[in-house]
Amino acid sequence: MSRIKLSDSEPINEDTLKGVASGYENNLKGFEEDLEVFLSNNSFVTCTNTGTAAIHLALIISGISKGDEVLCQSMTFIATSNPIVYLGATPIFIDSEEETWNMCPVLLEEAIQDRIKKGKKPKAIIVVHLYGMPAKIEEISKIAKVYGITLIEDAAESLGSTYKGQKCGTFGDFGILSFNTNKIITANGGGALVCKDEENKEKAKYLSNQARDDRHFYQHSQIGYNYKMSDILAGVGRKQINFLESYINLRRNNNNFYKNIFKETKGVSLLSEPSNDFFSTHWLTCVKICSNITSFTRENIRQALLEDNIESRPLWKPMHMQPVFKNAIFYGDNFSGSLFEKGLCLPSGSNLTIDDKNRISGILRAFI
Ligand SMILES: *Cc1c(COP(=O)(O)O)cnc(C)c1O
Repeated sequence: MSRIKLSDSEPINEDTLKGVASGYENNLKGFEEDLEVFLSNNSFVTCTNTGTAAIHLALIISGISKGDEVLCQSMTFIATSNPIVYLGATPIFIDSEEETWNMCPVLLEEAIQDRIKKGKKPKAIIVVHLYGMPAKIEEISKIAKVYGITLIEDAAESLGSTYKGQKCGTFGDFGILSFNTNKIITANGGGALVCKDEENKEKAKYLSNQARDDRHFYQHSQIGYNYKMSDILAGVGRKQINFLESYINLRRNNNNFYKNIFKETKGVSLLSEPSNDFFSTHWLTCVKICSNITSFTRENIRQALLEDNIESRPLWKPMHMQPVFKNAIFYGDNFSGSLFEKGLCLPSGSNLTIDDKNRISGILRAFI
């Protein structure tokens, strides 16, 4: 049986590459403009070679340095928190809430008050819109404003998702995107920093280009990074963004397919939009299996799929549970840990075929 992967995007084929290297000029500028138009809401975009680099730049431009504290969603991929450590700052992890599985606003505020009481106000907040699901961004933005703390949105998994019609990545002081190969659109690697003004966009450009001063010779007044996106990859990104709306529909259709399968199964719940304010691309469809109610466990399902060469994967292991962050401070009662224990990401690629879906549903239906 052929392999069904967790998150296949459309393959980058010869057609995608046609014209990218030769015919197009200034792909990079074009891709940044495409993203600014797509995101709207006063967005100024600098593309980078990875999403991780974009988070690093957001933190640098926010003035984060050694010894600062940064509040960070615990339930995420480690790319979110690594750049905090690159800067010698300290990540403080915040648990998730039950509706969106993203940062809990109540715990966030508790953490801020507690950190202030202990003598240090955190310098930034990084919230993540995981698996395509918008976080409770209105509450979180409000808290960031009240306490005067910079808000960075990791929208790597949620390009095209919206809250009250506004695109994820445009609420904070900064947003970041990723075009890694498993994301909803890919440039075969790449990322973007979304800023709120031209000045920060230019700062990001400068830092991503080895902080090269505007001279006819090489002069540097600051330490920079080689974080530029390649012009050829930007050309791939430009082609892919044309298909974004159709990929969103395909991923949402996948989610409906799974919803249908599990609709009458007690103890199995899908990550779902809490209200009409939330629009998720459902980049990945995730289920939570409460094996005290069901007759099977998350691992039973994962193994059965694997035996048929179908990839599925437990949800992200929260950062506060990672060996590398074993001494980090954490606010919460480990809801994210229970998600890691019970949750599974199901195959959600935009190229799943009817045959693929029949194989998957045959295996899942045998359990329910
Ligand atoms: C993919 C991803 C990133 C960025 O990853 P890059 O591979 O560096 O582009 C950041 N945060 C999350 C949550 C991600 O899934």
